[in-house]
Amino acid sequence: MLWQVRRSIGWIFPADLEGISSLKLIDELAPARETSEAWYKKAQKNDYFVLGWYKAKAPTEAAITLNIGDIYKCIPVIYRRTPVATLIITQTLAHEVGHHMSYKKGYAVALTGRLEKKPDRDEEARAESYALAVMTRMRRRWHYRLAALAVNDLTQWYDVQALLDWRAGKYKDAARKWYKAAVLDPYDRRLATCYWRAKEMCDSNPPALTNGT
Ligand SMILES: [Zn+2]
Repeated sequence: MLWQVRRSIGWIFPADLEGISSLKLIDELAPARETSEAWYKKAQKNDYFVLGWYKAKAPTEAAITLNIGDIYKCIPVIYRRTPVATLIITQTLAHEVGHHMSYKKGYAVALTGRLEKKPDRDEEARAESYALAVMTRMRRRWHYRLAALAVNDLTQWYDVQALLDWRAGKYKDAARKWYKAAVLDPYDRRLATCYWRAKEMCDSNPPALTNGT
């Protein structure tokens, strides 16, 4: 797993990583505590997708955490040691590095006194476009281009299977598969919407305690 994360790091320009003092890999999200940050509590309460996050104390003291356990759950075993896995990991890692770039830029602007004190609404979009640029760079290599096709196939497979589960009333299975599809293709908002709908159905139709006969 570690070498794959290293390979992902290799796709980011070293200068862009300057200031990131720690990269933490976690297997699962810890329950929110009293002292947790507000966004984390909210994310845990609402079951938001949290594949990674970025936190900076200073431009040279930034940390990225990757929820590698959840990322890996979306990758079938046969792909785990292939460029498919590298591609999927890099998608999240590059997004977080995108936040770092925004932070450093904002800080530089603040030093010259041109930063307005309001939160930047475009930050998420900028992190996304940074990730997209990295992914585009990767796809110039043929084996990542093939890997990207495999990721597309995989996403479609999860999507179709989820739909079948949905039709059979197996909302929990459907939600799980749409979740994976949405992680693999974060740009297709429909997948995330389907996930939320399936999840709502689970919540309103708790599974029966017995299977019946
Ligand atoms: Zn983000």
